Amino acid sequence: MPKPKLKSAVTKLPAARAKPRASARRIPYSPHEVAEIFRRFSVQRPDPRGELDFKNPFTLLVAVVLSAQATDVSVNKATKGLFAVADTPQKMLDLGEEKVGGFIRAIGLWRGKARNVIALSEALIRDHHGEVPQTREALTKLPGVGRKTANVVLNSAFGQHTLAVDTHIFRLGNRLKLAPGKTPDEVEQGFLKIIPDEYLRHAHHWLILHGRYVCKARRPECERCVIADICKAPDKTCDVPAALVPLEGIVAAAQ
Ligand code: SF4
Repeated sequence: MPKPKLKSAVTKLPAARAKPRASARRIPYSPHEVAEIFRRFSVQRPDPRGELDFKNPFTLLVAVVLSAQATDVSVNKATKGLFAVADTPQKMLDLGEEKVGGFIRAIGLWRGKARNVIALSEALIRDHHGEVPQTREALTKLPGVGRKTANVVLNSAFGQHTLAVDTHIFRLGNRLKLAPGKTPDEVEQGFLKIIPDEYLRHAHHWLILHGRYVCKARRPECERCVIADICKAPDKTCDVPAALVPLEGIVAAAQ
């Protein structure tokens, strides 16, 4: 009986070498198209900012912890009074859990969040001389601080090239097929692989703002979208890109 033919490893090697990177194979955009998407975002919002109010890295950390399952507007209302009296870990500790709770009572899950704010203030004083650490590893050891919160703080307070995947970024990664993934971590890694270095500093805010104001969850407003000609979302409703102009004032007015 003739022996079955085995493909030699030698013939397999060239094919394996020719295989594109996973990210490049999985997404339907060329590197040029990805760069053009972020170039347009950079023209629209040259200096994008998050919408949480804060005075220093500590108050940003507290604001982000408070923002879980709450709107930025409701957090800003609560922290206006809170940060006026407590903008350092020591002042927060001196204020105490009950009074912190009094300031944030209008925010969902406020009891647990007040407890976390006090616990993380204690940890910052005990382990970091009252300063907010600048590594993800140290941040995620703090009470109530997960990877997403750490990424927001590293990016917005310290200018690091991180991407915190919230509901908007997760939706965009999958809807546009730019960084498809079943988990926030997969979407984060997908985006980090494809975004050109020069745009990584602000990509986090550009994507959130694009998702919040244009590529909305229920009905994307494709006629207002500056990347409508490049976008490969199956449910897009327009192929003509909107005029590329700086948007800061227009976004504020539209809120
Ligand atoms: S064209 Fe529509 S679906 Fe695509 S990014 Fe713009 S708003 Fe979103």
